[in-house]
Amino acid sequence: MPHSFHSVKLARDKCKGCTTCITTCPTEAIRVRNGKAVIIEERCIDCGACIRICPSHAKEAISDALEDIKKYDYKVAVPAPTLYGQFNMKISIDKILTGLLALGFDEVFEAADAAEVVAAKTRQCLAEKNGDLPLISSSCPAIVRLIQLKYPGLLDQIIRVESPMETAARIVKEELHPDKKSIGVFFISPCAAKVTAVRNPMGCKHSSVDGVIPIKDIYLPLMNAISEVETMEHLGKASFRGISWAVSEGEGDNVGCHDIVAVDGIDQVAKVFEEIENRRFRNVDFIEAMACPGGCVGGPLTVENPYIAKARIRKKAQEATDKEANENQNKAIASPGEFIPRETHVNMEWQEEVKPKQIMKLDEDFRKAVIKMEEMEAIEKSLPGLDCGSCGAPTCKALSEDIVRGYAVKNDCIFILKEEIQTLASNLAELGARRPLSMDKEKK
Ligand code: SF4
Ligand code: SF4
Repeated sequence: MPHSFHSVKLARDKCKGCTTCITTCPTEAIRVRNGKAVIIEERCIDCGACIRICPSHAKEAISDALEDIKKYDYKVAVPAPTLYGQFNMKISIDKILTGLLALGFDEVFEAADAAEVVAAKTRQCLAEKNGDLPLISSSCPAIVRLIQLKYPGLLDQIIRVESPMETAARIVKEELHPDKKSIGVFFISPCAAKVTAVRNPMGCKHSSVDGVIPIKDIYLPLMNAISEVETMEHLGKASFRGISWAVSEGEGDNVGCHDIVAVDGIDQVAKVFEEIENRRFRNVDFIEAMACPGGCVGGPLTVENPYIAKARIRKKAQEATDKEANENQNKAIASPGEFIPRETHVNMEWQEEVKPKQIMKLDEDFRKAVIKMEEMEAIEKSLPGLDCGSCGAPTCKALSEDIVRGYAVKNDCIFILKEEIQTLASNLAELGARRPLSMDKEKK
């Protein structure tokens, strides 16, 4: 598997070259060339924003299929809590999880269950913190890649803890079934970034997850399976704390510290990171940052409107709380700090260093890079500054960078091209009006 695996791809035959996606990309990774979009892979963080926006459905996510679970003798589903919000309130969490068993899985382990463990580990990191504040959540892989690419100065502030998906897979394999040889753990995912996190992980060499199935692909078969469920099993173990991770502020509430900022939607996240770089937010302990609007419920591989999904998750999380209170009257659930999640000894800390990605550099040689930067600034000044996208680049600045890198020419800008055509036309007209001296009677 190539180290630079990306889950988000272009379906070239579907692309109409409309340029809608180029301004949506947070890392300016898309250009339109010869009537088709092109993704500059080194810049792509697999956030999936282009999947969400493309009117022609020309951006897709590479993922795994339900069929792939057959490669393993023992199959475990790890559903993201976002899955619960895709189904109406009559379909309980237990029913959804029983439906997954009917689809061929032998066991389900909720990512929400692991989220509670991750929250406890995050609380511990916050208690032991020494260094710059705020600490930044690592649970959204698109956000970690955004920091790597655009805000490398913030890398040390990321909490070096694995995501609930990865933690769940480790608990399943290392603690629940250490003796099983052929065991496949499949994450049911709302986003493409999780596919990349499994196939090209950060923080560890190899992921314990064996496959990622998009919610949108499993939704219909699961709906059919649920409709045939006769005996519902009591499988939901997670409380409202873990289930709430599907929506913005859920993780922060679960971590439970006082000075927390929750930000969702990649543009808003970028603004907050710029503020942190400018030494603001220093009184904040923790930043919960999610690439998708509204949190994971806004993921591009879901089926339900994120606002509806959010309302359902809140209600289902409340049901889980009530159930928990009924089941264990003595359990303290007053605040996240008092809550004791499942006991586990799996290692959740990052084992690998996450390094900055220097793809924004114009040249390896510092002096050449400075010259190119000056050239780029001069070109940018000569462009109209409208950021219209007609050239296929998202901004005039991006076009000037492409020109300096040798990927574009100045008259890719239609305003420059128009000026050049007008100059050419007037030169031609002037030439056409000129008569040879031999024909000019007055100058005889
Ligand atoms: S939004 Fe991008 S990928 Fe979709 S059709 Fe337009 S140019 Fe192509
Ligand atoms: S997935 Fe995100 S980063 Fe990659 S091309 Fe699409 S919008 Fe840009």
